[in-house]
Amino acid sequence: MPRVSPDCKLKFHEPLANKTTIRIGGSARFYAEPANYSDLRVLLRAAELYEFKSFCLGRGSNLLVSDHGFDGLVIRFSASAWRRVVSLGEGRIWASAGGRLKEICGFAAKNGLAGFEFLEGIPGAVGGALRMNAGAMGSWMFDVVERVQFIDEDGCYQDLPKEAFHFGYRKVEEISRGIALGAVLCSADGDSEASIRGRIDSYSSSRKESQPRGASAGCIFKNPEGNYAGKLIDEYGIKGMSVGAAEVSEVHGNFIVNHGGASAADVIELVQKVRAKVKAESGYILEPEVLLVGQSWDEVLSE
Ligand SMILES: Cc1cc2nc3c(=O)[nH]c(=O)nc-3n(C[C@H](O)[C@H](O)[C@H](O)COP(=O)(O)OP(=O)(O)OC[C@H]3O[C@@H](n4cnc5c(N)ncnc54)[C@H](O)[C@@H]3O)c2cc1C
Repeated sequence: MPRVSPDCKLKFHEPLANKTTIRIGGSARFYAEPANYSDLRVLLRAAELYEFKSFCLGRGSNLLVSDHGFDGLVIRFSASAWRRVVSLGEGRIWASAGGRLKEICGFAAKNGLAGFEFLEGIPGAVGGALRMNAGAMGSWMFDVVERVQFIDEDGCYQDLPKEAFHFGYRKVEEISRGIALGAVLCSADGDSEASIRGRIDSYSSSRKESQPRGASAGCIFKNPEGNYAGKLIDEYGIKGMSVGAAEVSEVHGNFIVNHGGASAADVIELVQKVRAKVKAESGYILEPEVLLVGQSWDEVLSE
């Protein structure tokens, strides 16, 4: 405690459910909101010294936290220093790890920078989107990345261009083993604010029509090669299947909605049932896109 700045928040047994969009899960044994880079360094050093596992929490929109919580240190970039989104000129934007995607989308529109419209409606922050290579409407995060500043798996600070990363569908190898601090994002083209806003509005209405409004963690499964998880779930009549208050959405088959009071165990059981049915009907084995915190999918899924 004395080694971090007075503005660094440190808590014990901090509930995590209210920090996720699906609103499920237990507590973090240790929880920190570093106020600056030096706090972050102290926290990582402490975790190493005392041999705690550590985990970065973004806006919790792609996570299922175990009912038992996380027995380690959760770090969240919600202090103002981590939410900076500024123009660097020449179509480029600096976005810190805690910056909200929605804000970047709006900022780009206001500055006449095209190419960020797909971020509309993805309820995450920059760090989580870099880690997941979040995508929609035919674009993904690494389309707009120029360089990323991060701490690598050995604890070394790195500032690397896009070409240095191994990225693909919902995965960026280097960032999944490290901590993203922020990125320089760049726009392919300029456009008028009005036409950018027009595209944002049209993406937003298609999301409203196709996605449930209830508490969820977004798409629960990755799309298997050559098919769509949501389409398979729909085709085999799995929509509406439920365990406790967790239900496969009637609006979009690849969303599991928490109607209030669902546990992580309910969601896990539902994931098992959906997978088993899809496998039996089609042979496809669906892999979770949502990350399980405090347990591992390998542990809870039979294959
Ligand atoms: C209604 C809804 C719609 C969605 N639509 C989409 C969509 O269209 N496309 C899409 O791709 N996703 C979608 N998602 C999922 C989710 O919003 C994205 O994956 C998002 O990028 C996750 O960001 P986050 O900040 O919430 O990350 P979190 O869920 O908090 O974390 C996700 C992962 O990122 C890691 N992480 C977080 N911050 C950092 C950091 N600074 N450094 C390293 N790792 C970090 C976490 O440790 C975790 O492994 C949707 C979710 C919801 C609820």
